[in-house]
Amino acid sequence: MRTPAVAALASSHGSAPVSAAARAVLAHLREEISFGLLDAPALRITLDGLGHATERQLRQALTHSLRPVINATGVILHTNLGRAPLATAALAHIRETAGRFSNLEFDVEAGARGKRDAHVDRLFRSLLCEGRPDEVEVSTIVVNNNAAAVLLALNTLAEGGEVIVSRGELVEIGGSFRIPDVMAKSGATLREVGTTNRTRIADYEKAITERTRLLLRVHRSNFEITGFTEQPSTADLVSLARGRGLPLMEDLGSGALVDLQNFGISGEPSVLDSLRAGVDIVTYSGDKLLGGPQAGLISGRADLVARMRANSLFRALRVDKLTYAALEATLLAYVKRDYDAIPALQMMRLTKLEIGQRAESLAAQARSSRMKIEITDGESVIGGGAAPSSVLPTRLLALSCEDLSADELAARLRSCDPPIVARVADGRVLLDLRTVFSEQDEALKTALTKLSQGQFPE
Ligand SMILES: *Cc1c(COP(=O)(O)O)cnc(C)c1O
Repeated sequence: MRTPAVAALASSHGSAPVSAAARAVLAHLREEISFGLLDAPALRITLDGLGHATERQLRQALTHSLRPVINATGVILHTNLGRAPLATAALAHIRETAGRFSNLEFDVEAGARGKRDAHVDRLFRSLLCEGRPDEVEVSTIVVNNNAAAVLLALNTLAEGGEVIVSRGELVEIGGSFRIPDVMAKSGATLREVGTTNRTRIADYEKAITERTRLLLRVHRSNFEITGFTEQPSTADLVSLARGRGLPLMEDLGSGALVDLQNFGISGEPSVLDSLRAGVDIVTYSGDKLLGGPQAGLISGRADLVARMRANSLFRALRVDKLTYAALEATLLAYVKRDYDAIPALQMMRLTKLEIGQRAESLAAQARSSRMKIEITDGESVIGGGAAPSSVLPTRLLALSCEDLSADELAARLRSCDPPIVARVADGRVLLDLRTVFSEQDEALKTALTKLSQGQFPE
């Protein structure tokens, strides 16, 4: 602590974090000595460098661990990279409401306590009641994620009773979300019907008893069953449920709020489609195809949603003002039909031509004799367990270096600041600009130029 270099650090950063950093450096050094990793000359050099090492350790300890990366994988909703990036308007709304006090649960007009879900319920109402005969009132509540939405809905509607699900829909989403496990936690009993590939409406019908509380359909969001298959239509399930006085719930997962056909994606039912078909309760994620913050949305029959709101689990699963602010601004973009304001949707809409032009311009500036950059056709995917069979045509930058393997090259890209995450295939590193924000092209160009000149970032 008294060596001049470390003492200077302590006077500017405070002695507690600096001594903690020095302890970490010394502990690491002791470990190396005890493993016999340092001989006497190496040890001398290391001891001379203690000031520097402490400074490096301190810098690491005092910077964020969560930081931005450049997503050049072409996977739009990359669960490991934070799924949907938020709209600029969503960030602005967080900034304006979360750094100050807000009317989160306050009715300004009445001067009395309000409900936090009022802020987004009105927007969901206008988006989901469009063109619907007004016989059923639709309301929406927000919880932490779709896993929580499914748990809350099952617990409210079916605790102590049975829920009928097709064997072809007992899905696992990843990160340990499995329908049978969530069902068990909700206190409901899973009643499987049909087979993996074929389930008929009669299978559901035969399984209904006085213990049945709910019919559940789960969207096969991350896989497909093809070949000799059969599944009842939503209309058949709706009429069976109505006839027996049972609610029908659908876990949609991805939760598209608009028809994605116009975005080049087929086979993803929208929330509106399900509600229009007569599904009573729909659950979906906020940060998948909706393109907003992490959240779980439960939309449907107002009387059933009111029971979920009254469940004490709802209090445990509710979300913060940050989520409401981001969600409200994202939904407003839908209300205004300003789809390009939502980054995930904007990325889906980029054409192969636009992406190809950006790729050409980057390649022209970064190519060298050391690093080969080719431009090839490829495919971007939606990710986030949505539309597994939908791919978007794209143009890829394919990098190869004579003195580095593709894995080494990819590791160099990850060591840039911000880290660049790419795909590796067939011995080349593939960069897809579909998921790179155009204002990041400059950072990408700088990194590629450095790499091609052999100046590897540390
Ligand atoms: C993604 C998904 C979930 C889990 O949603 P999270 O928001 O990640 O909790 C549940 N069910 C289905 C069908 C999904 O696609």
